[in-house]
Amino acid sequence: MSDKKFNAFEMAQAQFDKVAELIGLDSGTREFLRNPMREYHFSIPVKMDDGTVKVFRGFRVQHNDARGPGKGGIRFHPQETIDTVKALATWMTWKCAVVDIPLGGSKGGVICDPHNLSLKEQEQICRGWVRQIAKDVGPVRDVPAPDVMTNAQHMLWMLDEFETIHGGKYPGIITGKPVGMGGSLGRTEATGYGVIFTLREALKEMNINPDTTTASFQGFGNVAQYAIELYLRLGGKVICVSSWDQEDQTSYTFRRLSGIDLKQLLSITNRFGGIDKVKAKELGYEVLPGEAWIEQEVDILLPCALENQITGENVNKIKKSVKIIAEGANGPTTPEADKIIHERKIFNIPDFLANAGGVTCSYFEQVQSNMNYYWEKDEVLGKLDVKMTAAFLAVSELARKKNLYMRDAAYVISIGRVAQACKDRGWV
Ligand code: NAD
Repeated sequence: MSDKKFNAFEMAQAQFDKVAELIGLDSGTREFLRNPMREYHFSIPVKMDDGTVKVFRGFRVQHNDARGPGKGGIRFHPQETIDTVKALATWMTWKCAVVDIPLGGSKGGVICDPHNLSLKEQEQICRGWVRQIAKDVGPVRDVPAPDVMTNAQHMLWMLDEFETIHGGKYPGIITGKPVGMGGSLGRTEATGYGVIFTLREALKEMNINPDTTTASFQGFGNVAQYAIELYLRLGGKVICVSSWDQEDQTSYTFRRLSGIDLKQLLSITNRFGGIDKVKAKELGYEVLPGEAWIEQEVDILLPCALENQITGENVNKIKKSVKIIAEGANGPTTPEADKIIHERKIFNIPDFLANAGGVTCSYFEQVQSNMNYYWEKDEVLGKLDVKMTAAFLAVSELARKKNLYMRDAAYVISIGRVAQACKDRGWV
């Protein structure tokens, strides 16, 4: 979203085309899988607090549901585009397939900036979004979830609107709900922890002890915060995080070479994951330009903010010390940068594998909601670890055996599973 020339959907298609060619996918299946099955565009009128009516654009894209109901978050962002939503829906298909959960890929979005909206206005957007799509989503069709700038409260408003329209209780329609209102314990931690479960396995394969490693993070929101928590527990040291500064409309990197203090940074971070730069300085953090996170002398880089962040322009700033890139964000690396990372033999844990913990736990939430029976947190996180570890090992084994780049190996597994489901159903 940060680069106007960048098109996430073209990038998703380029990644798909590369692997479709590699595995010799037939032209019909290729044509079918490189585009979404369905996409919805709609207007959401909202009565603003000042009495005016403002119309917001909303989207839902259902990329593929051959393996099960669609699954994917709803993002609120001022630079949201239909192509970003299409890319994210496509990546959801591959993500559900790589961790082998029986779900397809969807994504939604609204062009809006919650920073400038009251809670009442945001509630109307949520309810309006559901009113537009209520007949085309549901527990056995397509199940939304939170994403950037949406949270459990937004999901609860959406659930309430869906249940009002359909006249019943359908907790399985949406995930990321508050705990006690159909949410799953462990969901908040799931994506960040999932990133670190895969990182832990990668370090094991490379015979590197986590407590000898250092890391730099881009982003300090839900994914990064929990990834940092678990990485610190494994003994790693985080020297850098970055975040978006709403006031200055730019990002900053916060560095402390002796290691950041997670609790302390959380205490000066707003609910959007923005760190207060004045307070950070007072606490002894160096406040550097937003891009500085990528040019640190560390072992591990973790982009956990947005797509299109490691590009042809900045990839060469990555230091020789970097051994692993674990992609917490969706689509953080452009194909141009990816080629260079591959050539430099940096071990990449691709986004749709690394951050699949969120959707895996959402699947657990859906199962619990449909049964109306809820598991303990340890049970959820234990099951998550098993799923993420198995998915990582399957991908890394294939990468080793066939001498494939990790991203390509993950795609070979995912595209193979989805193509097979389409074939088995007699669609292609
Ligand atoms: P979030 O809104 O909680 O946090 C985003 C963070 O990125 C914030 O700290 C924000 O300040 C920062 N940020 C935004 N623009 C930035 C920029 N230009 N430079 C530096 N920092 C910037 O979002 P999140 O839920 O943590 O999601 C982060 C990424 O992970 C997104 O790509 C999202 O699609 C992906 N993801 C999230 C989940 C999930 O469960 N939350 C699951 C899978 C993938």
